[in-house]
Amino acid sequence: MSLRGFLSELEGEGEVYRVKAQVSPRFEAAAIIRKLEEKAAIYLEKIEGFDIPVVAGVCATRRRLFKALRVDGNLDFYQRLLEAFSNPSRCRVVDDGPVREVSEEPDLSKLPILTFYEGDGGPYLTAGLVYARSGGVENVSIHRLMVLDKRRLAIRIVPRHLYRLWREAREKGKPLDVAITVGVHPALMLAASSPAPFGTSEYEVANKLLGGSLKLVEGEIVEGYAPAEAEIFLEGRILPNVEVEEGPFTDVTGTYDAVRRQPVVEVLRVHRRRNPIYQTILPAGLEHRLLMGIGYEAKIWSAVRNVTPEVGGVNLTVGGCGWLHAVVAIGKQREGDGKNALMAAFAAHPSLKHVVVVDLDIDVYNLEMVEWALATRFQGDRDLLVLREARGSTLDPSASPEGLTTKLGFDATRPLNLPPEAFRRAEIPGAEEACKKILK
Ligand code: MN
Repeated sequence: MSLRGFLSELEGEGEVYRVKAQVSPRFEAAAIIRKLEEKAAIYLEKIEGFDIPVVAGVCATRRRLFKALRVDGNLDFYQRLLEAFSNPSRCRVVDDGPVREVSEEPDLSKLPILTFYEGDGGPYLTAGLVYARSGGVENVSIHRLMVLDKRRLAIRIVPRHLYRLWREAREKGKPLDVAITVGVHPALMLAASSPAPFGTSEYEVANKLLGGSLKLVEGEIVEGYAPAEAEIFLEGRILPNVEVEEGPFTDVTGTYDAVRRQPVVEVLRVHRRRNPIYQTILPAGLEHRLLMGIGYEAKIWSAVRNVTPEVGGVNLTVGGCGWLHAVVAIGKQREGDGKNALMAAFAAHPSLKHVVVVDLDIDVYNLEMVEWALATRFQGDRDLLVLREARGSTLDPSASPEGLTTKLGFDATRPLNLPPEAFRRAEIPGAEEACKKILK
C-alpha cells in the first residue's frame, strides 16, 4: 500500500503522464502540473539540479482517489470514510521498512522542493504528513512547510488539532517531536486532510480504509511514526520559542495568504528509500481542493441526512475552491425541507459561504444543470436564506477583517404546491438509440 504501488496501477491504465524533459523546480514544474493534473498523475523524471523525481496530481480527481480506495462512487466513499472515523483501526508497528533503506544527516537542499507562484515566499513542501503526539493524543495532518535553510522549515499551523498539541508543549517550554512523511498512498493523503475528530489518529483512519494493511516505523531520535512504505521520512521537532515570517503562500482560494509569524521545524534526521520519489501538491490546484473538501462532503452528507432522509450527492465545487461552495441534492418530501437542508450543511462545515440545494433529478457535479435548476425552480424572495455576519473562512479575502461573512443558501428544489410536470426536463424519446443508429 504505497505511493509507487498505486502509481504503477495508474500507469497500467495510461493515467500517469511522464515528462522526460528537464523541468525547473521554479514555476515550470507548477505550470506542467496545473496543465495536466486533471488528465493524469504527473511524473517529472528530471528536475533541474536534483536527482530525485517529482510526482503530483495523484489524488487530483475523484476517479483516481476512489480507485485507490477501492470505493464505488461518492456515496460509498462517504460511508466508508465516516465508518473509518468512528471505527479507526490500530496500526502495526514494525522494525524496518523501505523508508529506512537510507538514513542520513538532514539536507533539505537535496529534495526537489518546488516554488509554485510568482509571489510565494519561497520553495514549499506541500505534501508532507505531520505526525505528532501529546499525552494520549496522536494527530496526523498536512501543513505547508516553507524552506528556510538546509535543516529548517517554517510551518503554518492553523488553530486545529496540531495547534493544540504544539501549544501544550510550548506551555511546558518543550519542543514538539514531529515525524514528517512525503510520498504516501492516497488513503493516507486523504485521512490526513480529512476532518477526523480530535483525538482520533489519522493513521488509524487510513489503516481502516486500507483494510488493516498499514505498517508504521518509529523514529530513531523523535517519538513519532511514519508509514513503513513511505518515500521520505524527516524526523524533527517544532521549536518552542522560535517564530519566523512565513509566506506569502498561495492557498486553496488561489489568492496569496498573508505573511504571519509561525513556528519553526528543525529537521534532525532524514530516512528515505534508496531511489525516492518526491511527492507534491500544487497549491490551489484540483488535488488541493479535492483533498481539502471531500472529507467535508461526507460530513455534510451525514448532517443533511438527519433532516431529510434521502441525500443524493454533495459537491464542494472546484470553482468554490473545494471549500466555500456546496451543492446538495435531496429527496424533498415536505415544503421547507430545502431550508433545513441548507442549515444542516452550514452547520456541518462552518467555512461554507454559498450552498445550493437541488432535487434528486439534478446532477450536483454538472454545474450547468445546477444553474438550470436555479433558473427554473428558484425565486429570490421565497427561496433565499441570508445569514448576515456569520463566522466564515479566513481564506476568503472578501470577508471582514474579523472573519465575518454573509452566507447565502439557495433552495432550488421544486415547490410542492405546483404541478411537477411544469418543472420536468423535456426528453426526446429514444434519443440515444436514434443517435447510435443514424450517426454510427
Ligand atoms: Mn486530527
